[in-house]
Amino acid sequence: MKEELIRLKNMIQDASYIVFFGGAGVSTESGIPDFRSPDGLYSMKFKYPPEQMVSYSFFVTHPSEFYAFFREKLVYPDALPNNAHFALAELEKQGKLKAVVTQNVDNLHQKAGSVNVLELHGSGNRYYCMLCKEAYGLETVLEAEDIPMCRCGGIIRPDVVLYEESLDQNVINKSISAIRNADVLIVGGTSLNVYPAAGLLQYYQGDNLVLINKSETSFDSYASIVIRDAIGETLGEVVLAT
Ligand code: ZN
Repeated sequence: MKEELIRLKNMIQDASYIVFFGGAGVSTESGIPDFRSPDGLYSMKFKYPPEQMVSYSFFVTHPSEFYAFFREKLVYPDALPNNAHFALAELEKQGKLKAVVTQNVDNLHQKAGSVNVLELHGSGNRYYCMLCKEAYGLETVLEAEDIPMCRCGGIIRPDVVLYEESLDQNVINKSISAIRNADVLIVGGTSLNVYPAAGLLQYYQGDNLVLINKSETSFDSYASIVIRDAIGETLGEVVLAT
């Protein structure tokens, strides 16, 4: 095992309040691409840039195009958790990990067995009517041929935070509190450039910041362990391998 992986393993062994903060990179090993990463696909198939298509104003003015993009690029009902998700669920089961704070909306942490998951950007698994607030599941949205409609006639929207919308203050407060209490903070699969990631990290008061990301992040110099590798492979080797 590589030296920094041994250090991470020891750090986890000594920890009693691990918090994980993750971004899109956590799910790429499950086959879910980061819609922000440049791959040209969007420009070929869709008329609008992805960042515009996930905005609130686009949703209310172009719900049909929104859902075409959403179904094809933002929900992956068949995706399975990878070793990053399984390792974090295992650490929670052992009582060491207290919270997963995620920017992803793919529900994979829950699928892997994690319980305390703080979803900063909401969940692509939950939907509700904009008029009467009736709750719906992903099946309703996948089965609808165009815009999913409530039986009351209202439009059903995803319970995700769209661009131009603010994050749920309750989720932010819980995330801050978890990060503040953490003795080990593991950050993975995010370059920490997207709001509110960098801001939340400021609340960490410990000396055991671990960054696992394929590319450099703006917090590398603050970390005690930096691992530039795939997070599923890394956490799988450190936590799940016997
Ligand atoms: Zn309704």
